[in-house]
Amino acid sequence: MPDMHMRRNEGRKMATGATEAAIELRSTGESRNRSRGNPGTGDKEEVLLEVRGLKKYFPILGGLFRRPVGYARAVDGVDFYIRRGETLGLVGESGSGKTTAGMCILHLIEPTAGKIRFNRDGEFIEVNSRTVRSLRRSMQIIFQDPYSSLDPRMMVQDIIAEPLEAQGVRSRRERYERVEELLNAVGMSSQHMRRFPHEFSGGQRQRIGIARALALNPSLIVCDEPVSALDVSVQAQVLNLLDDLQERFGLTYLFIAHDLSVVQHVSDRVAVMYLGKIVEIADVEELFNNPRHPYTEALFSAIPVPDPDFQYKQIILEGDVPSPIDPPPGCNFHPRCRYARAICSKEEPVLREVGGDGHLAACHFADDLVLMGVWGPGIAQTG
Ligand code: SF4
Repeated sequence: MPDMHMRRNEGRKMATGATEAAIELRSTGESRNRSRGNPGTGDKEEVLLEVRGLKKYFPILGGLFRRPVGYARAVDGVDFYIRRGETLGLVGESGSGKTTAGMCILHLIEPTAGKIRFNRDGEFIEVNSRTVRSLRRSMQIIFQDPYSSLDPRMMVQDIIAEPLEAQGVRSRRERYERVEELLNAVGMSSQHMRRFPHEFSGGQRQRIGIARALALNPSLIVCDEPVSALDVSVQAQVLNLLDDLQERFGLTYLFIAHDLSVVQHVSDRVAVMYLGKIVEIADVEELFNNPRHPYTEALFSAIPVPDPDFQYKQIILEGDVPSPIDPPPGCNFHPRCRYARAICSKEEPVLREVGGDGHLAACHFADDLVLMGVWGPGIAQTG
């Protein structure tokens, strides 16, 4: 069992690189959640999106007839909700299933199982292949790569007007007036309308992508790593823009990212995914102060601290991420978990409430372990 660890942080030390850019966000040192007030534990009226038992298995084809010989469980039974007007951060390593979950929510790929329900004007509508077209106005996506997500042969005015046309806005003048409005909203101007994507920088292209996502006045936007392909210097501008637009248009975000410091800054709540499952979900401040799952602790310990005098012990996760084709029995994380005991390889822990206030964790020992947080006085030891 591990020994006591020194305090990870005094005050709030933050990550470097992309994170520093994020900190340039008009941060007052307060977390987003504190500045907005705690959104509470989630009245049903407030819930905009509800996801229950979401699964996406990709078939592995083999043999002479290319028949399924197995399945890669990219998303394996995920439950969460998002309240209207909040940002839910979704984090995890590459291959954890976070982008696949986002795609399933928008029905850009067909889920294998599970229910997704969207609250449209107080009525919950199941998102499926029948309803998705009518819900497309309400749910949009901002893609990670602003270079490949815009058609290089189309002018900006046509890229942004495309969803308007698809949703039946017939008048060309009306469409272009809306394009102008949207360009202004994302900090660009009508002068940019007749240019092509290659004439813009990465940050400007991402603004165009955001304008396109806003075209139909959506309520929910899935932001799939929206700043990870951008220069550090531009990341903060785009994050600030997303924050402004959320305030202005009352948007709700599912913010998918691997940079924990960006997620910390933009999110109200954060869900941590590992091998297709949510292993922990909590209010952002609670999670960063008081993680209850060993995987979350390991992710936090990898955040670099920009202080040469500050010493801490990084938790090195041993072994590789197990294959989603053949996940380990019991707790998926047990082959890499330094707290694992006999039960962990036999029984799968359920995602359950630990410590109140909607803090959920899927670990047999979540009540006993005291883990290292990023800001708080956590000291890792076993119970
Ligand atoms: Fe580690 Fe066991 Fe908890 Fe899984 S259930 S995270 S293996 S201690």
